[in-house]
Amino acid sequence: MLYYSTNKRSEPLTFREAAISGQAPDKGLYFPEFIPELSKHFLAELKAKTRAEIAFEVIKPYVGGTIPDEVLHTICEETVNFEFPLVQVNESLYSLELYHGPTLAFKDVGARFMSRCLGYFSRDNKRNVTILVATSGDTGSAVANGFLGVEGVDVVILYPSGKVSNIQELQLTTLGRNITALEVKGTFDDCQTMVKQAFADKELNRKLILTSANSINVARWLPQQFYYFYALQQWPYSQPPVVSVPSGNFGNICAGLLAFKSGLPVQHFIAACNSNDVFPVYLQSGVYNPKPSVSTYSNAMDVGNPSNFVRLTELFEGDLALMQQTVSSCSVSDEVTLETIREVFYNENYLLEPHGAVAYAALKQFMNENPGQRGIFLETAHPVKFNTIVEKCIGKVVDIPVSASHLAGLSKKSLIIEPGFQELKDFLMNK
Ligand SMILES: *Cc1c(COP(=O)(O)O)cnc(C)c1O
Repeated sequence: MLYYSTNKRSEPLTFREAAISGQAPDKGLYFPEFIPELSKHFLAELKAKTRAEIAFEVIKPYVGGTIPDEVLHTICEETVNFEFPLVQVNESLYSLELYHGPTLAFKDVGARFMSRCLGYFSRDNKRNVTILVATSGDTGSAVANGFLGVEGVDVVILYPSGKVSNIQELQLTTLGRNITALEVKGTFDDCQTMVKQAFADKELNRKLILTSANSINVARWLPQQFYYFYALQQWPYSQPPVVSVPSGNFGNICAGLLAFKSGLPVQHFIAACNSNDVFPVYLQSGVYNPKPSVSTYSNAMDVGNPSNFVRLTELFEGDLALMQQTVSSCSVSDEVTLETIREVFYNENYLLEPHGAVAYAALKQFMNENPGQRGIFLETAHPVKFNTIVEKCIGKVVDIPVSASHLAGLSKKSLIIEPGFQELKDFLMNK
């Protein structure tokens, strides 16, 4: 299996090479040259398989022999060693809870898989690889946790001071070892600009092997397919579900669409967006018009130019009509998001957080327009990660789950820096 760049001006690479380089030199995204087809037998036996077996069989063709089977199997076992429960919320809607991993958000799966692949690929390296990430919260904690203690890899995280939730900050700043947290006195956009400058700086790149760990990277993007298989594994009906995915950079939904193209039965996909509505507008009009992001309560989806949009068009080979048959999209306001959290808590006795609430509201709207279906929405983070908003909606305190209770006793360790490239560069040059 080779990966070509969506800009078609860089050489095709193996999984190993694509995972190490992240983005293609021509600034395109790597895309598999073909989509493997799953056997009827595999799909019929889904319910009887373990999570690790499913992960292994789904990802093996994509890894294309660059990791030996025994190693890949262990990587899969470690990646998915927590639950992905499908919980019934009412008569026709189910929640796929993707927040039972170590940092309480769905990004754990991609980060755990990618870190173990890079750990394997860099086992004979003389120089450490440095992963540089800008985060608005969830990505940084998942990446830090996934890479903690991986030999040959250092992680440097930039986060905007005072703009991540308390629990997110503790997850970012208390790990130590090969993880360093830089607290930037600015916004998320400042952090992202600084990281981009670092990747473009010649002197820095002579000194360090810099890599990114966002969903542009195939090793983080592809394992997200697993969620959709675990959903179907627990689906109690013969009619396939409608699946609603809260979307920001569109990595998650693109992975779902890959699984679908491989043969996974899904009725229809919904890309649920907040007020950042570039994609819903595109589906309606055929015009893709990226714009600056606006901030919302579902801040992990505040993206004005989704990086995986090119993979979406690649999946449908630029055929808008075909995309419209498979995917719908809608934009959900902050007001409706809050109302949804409140209503679902008091009427259905189920607690959502803002990202899951956007997916729920979009699915509900689709069901009203297309009656007689059943569906699944993806709940991508634990409500405690967005407790200020959730508690405001329901007027109750959200309990911290046992898996995060240790954080309360830890003290934050971060290095405070000014926004702007120079201080970041000085730090990295002297590392
Ligand atoms: C990152 C994130 C999303 C958006 O996922 P994409 O793959 O970027 O579309 C949704 N919800 C939460 C909680 C996230 O952290």
